[in-house]
Amino acid sequence: MRHIAIIGSGPAGYYTAEAAQKAFGDEVRVDVFDCLPVPFGLIRSGVAPDHQSIKGVSRRYEKVALSDNVRFVGNVTIGQDVSIAELQELYDAVVLATGAPKDHELGIPGDDLANVFGSAAFVGWYNGHPQFAALNPDLSGKTAVVIGMGNVALDVARILAKTRAEFAGSDIVAHALEALEASQIERIVILGRRGPHQIMMTPKELGELGELERASPHVAPADLPAQEEDAILEPGLRKSVSHLRAFAATPEHIRAEKPIALEFVFMSAPRALIGNDKVEAIEVEKTRLVHGRAEGTGETETLPADLVVSCIGYRTAPIPGVPFDERAGRFANDEGRILPGLYCVGWARRGPTGTIGTNRPDGYSVVELIQADTESGALGATRKQGRAGFDALAAERNLDIVTFRDWKKIEEAEERAAREGAPREKFVDIEAMIRARG
Ligand code: NAP
Repeated sequence: MRHIAIIGSGPAGYYTAEAAQKAFGDEVRVDVFDCLPVPFGLIRSGVAPDHQSIKGVSRRYEKVALSDNVRFVGNVTIGQDVSIAELQELYDAVVLATGAPKDHELGIPGDDLANVFGSAAFVGWYNGHPQFAALNPDLSGKTAVVIGMGNVALDVARILAKTRAEFAGSDIVAHALEALEASQIERIVILGRRGPHQIMMTPKELGELGELERASPHVAPADLPAQEEDAILEPGLRKSVSHLRAFAATPEHIRAEKPIALEFVFMSAPRALIGNDKVEAIEVEKTRLVHGRAEGTGETETLPADLVVSCIGYRTAPIPGVPFDERAGRFANDEGRILPGLYCVGWARRGPTGTIGTNRPDGYSVVELIQADTESGALGATRKQGRAGFDALAAERNLDIVTFRDWKKIEEAEERAAREGAPREKFVDIEAMIRARG
């Protein structure tokens, strides 16, 4: 019997569990740990609440979770309740699928002012992540600045722009829905340090900005490169750029019909946030591209900013005792192997890029490494205790483990509490989740 511990129950974690089942069949027992009492990581707290079809992938993970040789061990923080070294004693392989839940910091003067948030915090707020549920952003100002031109920036800008009716069918949490309904924001600046040909936004997601009820995207025609230059772009990016061209071609009188402007500001790097206590403005430096990189020109400009959300990427949270690559912001690893017996997968392995589906081949390849290390004898000959050993340790430490069956009860309670048309109303604090399992 092989015993595998997977830390993190998001896409990377469950694809790894699925791959382990396929590779080892009845000869494996997999424990999937999560620090929250609820599973699915980024699917629950990262994917935008108005993108329910993407969240549907959790049904596939549920199939894996409900099989006999895989179990969910919620409400246990590895590195705190139990150390990595202790897990390594108990399991043949420990796989870190902890994602990249920390914001990449802006690192500019004023980034500690009130109403300046990283996207992990802001997305966590509208998605009801217990750590960020009390964020309470002030939406009473007129201008929001969203820094970055990736899909997360698009999510944040779109959520800020939507009406209550446009959230029908979403699982946005009640506190965010209420705050957004009372929002006074009428200008949302999407700030990029490079140009239209360097955006990281995918076409479907960018196209959604053109279909909003009360907001219209603004792109200055003069900011766009000559159309023939689009020919060299890869097809996805070319399609995204064609959306920017369509936005730029929208006549002013049509745009003016909608009260919220989603304004693209290119070639502008954030240099400082300005305000007393709370942010009031952002200083940007105009850039030019040098070998594809944004280089400051010395010309600065100040834009009003009552709310700032920086969507500039994420970092993995280090775990005591696990080698960490500070520069890359993820675990130090060779194609997923940290050491024989200790692996990482998904964003914790490769950084915060790619779609949810990218984690599937990642999960399968880490299981191939485990297989290779088993066959080569690198994992050692000692028989590990696996689940039984962990359960003894958990009892000794009085850990209050939440099982997948408990989660199903929490889920039912969330579904019962849903407002009309919504799939669920999430619990946003850990105590309430634990109470709901009965
Ligand atoms: P991303 O795609 O890497 O975009 C990050 C953006 O931040 C880039 O425009 C980058 O500009 C900018 N940036 C980085 N550092 C900066 C700085 N110091 N100052 C100013 N701008 C800076 O990351 P993401 O948006 O966080 O998305 C993460 C991953 O999740 C991506 O693979 C994304 O596609 C995926 N995702 C997908 C969906 C979806 O499919 N619906 C939704 C959300 C996220 P440069 O290019 O100049 O570095």
